[in-house]
Amino acid sequence: MSKDGHLKDRVALVTGSTSGIGLGIARSLAGAGAHVVLNGFGDPAVIEKLRAGLAAEFGVEVRYFGADMTKEDEIAGMIRDVEREFGAIDVLVNNAGVQHVAPVDEFPVDKWNLILALNLSAAFHAIRLALPAMKQKGWGRIISTASAHALVASPFKVAYVAAKHGIAGITKTVALEVADKGITVNAICPGYVWTPLVEKQIPDTARARGMTEEQVKKDVILAAQPTKEFVTVEEVAALALFLTTDGARSITGSLQSIDGGWTAA
Ligand code: NAD
Repeated sequence: MSKDGHLKDRVALVTGSTSGIGLGIARSLAGAGAHVVLNGFGDPAVIEKLRAGLAAEFGVEVRYFGADMTKEDEIAGMIRDVEREFGAIDVLVNNAGVQHVAPVDEFPVDKWNLILALNLSAAFHAIRLALPAMKQKGWGRIISTASAHALVASPFKVAYVAAKHGIAGITKTVALEVADKGITVNAICPGYVWTPLVEKQIPDTARARGMTEEQVKKDVILAAQPTKEFVTVEEVAALALFLTTDGARSITGSLQSIDGGWTAA
């Protein structure tokens, strides 16, 4: 696709898009013609390469804002700057997230606070700040990367499961509030996707469950998914892109499973 796709002249902000699922979604939106704002952490030289590469490949404008999504003032600053530069954010993708795996009675309080701030409160702040300009325009797409853990729990992930269930609540509530304003609000609920977030949790899961790392991959991660395969970043990005189309205008307040059958069981 090209800059003449269905998102031509639209502006998309994807949080946590320097890696993994967020980067995949940013690519798919740029491929449909959106100007894209990247956000997330990482080596500045690598991020600049990503930014310039996307801009050159798709012929759209790509900017990077390094706001720490756990910090309310940095989120506000980023949204203000993006709106000043581009106008309204048309597509907001709340995607930045981290994981920590430990039994609840050993769960580090600082990790609880971090996960609630990043995986839950950041979406609240970004939505409340981006919504007025979307309302004024009468068009918007808000998509949050939730998780199968927005629908079901797994042991040792208390903060993550709580935050993702919270995203389900935000999604449904805001969808109702803006249903007649041309704005849809949905969450995508992937099963396991092979990204740095999953890779990093394997040693802690092995420790918490008394297993080897290989056993964790086979008996915990892929065991959850009846397909016995990881979901791919491209599949999640394709679903996010579909939610931005006119064909998806009646899909709102929904939690879209993409989990190889995990939550059907
Ligand atoms: P990832 O580690 O590849 O990407 C996470 C992104 O968030 C990175 O760009 C990182 O720099 C950014 N980030 C981390 N802390 C940040 C902060 N304080 N402020 C701004 N950005 C920050 O992980 P991923 O697997 O691509 O995860 C993306 C989202 O998908 C997360 O919300 C995650 O919960 C969700 N998810 C992942 C899976 C999976 O299996 N990988 C499954 C379901 C849901």
